[in-house]
Amino acid sequence: MITVALERLVPEHIRRFEAYIPSKPDDVLMKMYRCRRLYRLNNNENPLGPPPAARKALAEFPPPRAAIYPSGDAYHLRRRLAENFGLDPDQILVGNGANEVIAFVIKAFCREGDNIVTADKTFAVYEWVAEFSGFQARLVPLKDFGFDDRAMLEAIDERTKVVFVCNPNNPTGKYWSLTRLKSFLDAVAGRRIVVVDEAYCEFVQQPDYPDCIRLIDQYPNLVVFRTFSKMYALAGLRIGYLAGSREVVDIIRRTCVVYSVNGPAQAAAMACLGDREHILRTRRLVREGKQFLKAELAGMGLSTVSGEGNFVMVRLPINDNLAYRKLMSRGIMVRSMTGFRFPGWIRVTIHQRQVLEAFVEALAEILEEV
Ligand SMILES: *Cc1c(COP(=O)(O)O)cnc(C)c1O
Repeated sequence: MITVALERLVPEHIRRFEAYIPSKPDDVLMKMYRCRRLYRLNNNENPLGPPPAARKALAEFPPPRAAIYPSGDAYHLRRRLAENFGLDPDQILVGNGANEVIAFVIKAFCREGDNIVTADKTFAVYEWVAEFSGFQARLVPLKDFGFDDRAMLEAIDERTKVVFVCNPNNPTGKYWSLTRLKSFLDAVAGRRIVVVDEAYCEFVQQPDYPDCIRLIDQYPNLVVFRTFSKMYALAGLRIGYLAGSREVVDIIRRTCVVYSVNGPAQAAAMACLGDREHILRTRRLVREGKQFLKAELAGMGLSTVSGEGNFVMVRLPINDNLAYRKLMSRGIMVRSMTGFRFPGWIRVTIHQRQVLEAFVEALAEILEEV
């Protein structure tokens, strides 16, 4: 019998790494938890769905085109984005979700012995990609639920190649102002790549919130991430992008997998751009939902942490994984936060009023039980 020589084949950093297990499909979960409905409040998806023009683009996508490879570098989409931002199309790289462009950046700049710097309680994919690629992730504790700029500067050493800042931060919603971000970039002084992940920028309406794409000219080591998954509700199509200076993007392009972004995703993304009405409607839903949710939770004596973005963190008097299972059996899926190093907390995506009411009711029931 043949056995695989795994002890010899598997690098130490892969052996140590624990695979992320995504949630099961709705039909499977509904059987497992015996619930007749399932509201997903776990992934910060937009309950309004894609803008009308994106729906139309999807419906009109000719099925025979499935046989044909898409544009390998999202040619038209990059041109449209570049026009909107006043950049050159060569300053943009489109990926299979912003998740994929994280890997492009790490692969482009890190070699054996190098590290990345980010926060301990933020979007976990920066840390994961670094670690399963064999690079250290230096994780700096949050301060007052936000990224700690001073401690991050101190954590940077001579082997740090990339610094990841999530602005606003998922899951806490805190953000760096323009002034704070610029002084951080001034301190780094071009010696590292600084990534600012703006996955939620379209939700933010604070006057001091920085639009990092405008800072690229001034800071050529700055790389900005954006996604169509959150505000534009195209999470299922997997499309996001990065923007940076021509010289830096020329390097990152070498690690890009071409053809990773499918045709329907490119067409739908292009159709989203410029739909102000969709953004305004979504912002209104988020504003009203957040207000309702926070008031209800405060009434139940629960503390919350929130800021920008379409999510709220809630502190529970019970174990968050237990709360997850109990909420699931009532048809509500939240994000338990032990995995984000926030044990005892859950993160809840802002949804339609009636769904948030169902969540509040279910939460009150399970807290009653214990
Ligand atoms: C959702 C999210 C992403 C990833 O988005 P995709 O484009 O769906 O891969 C990136 N960063 C943050 C902070 C997110 O919350």
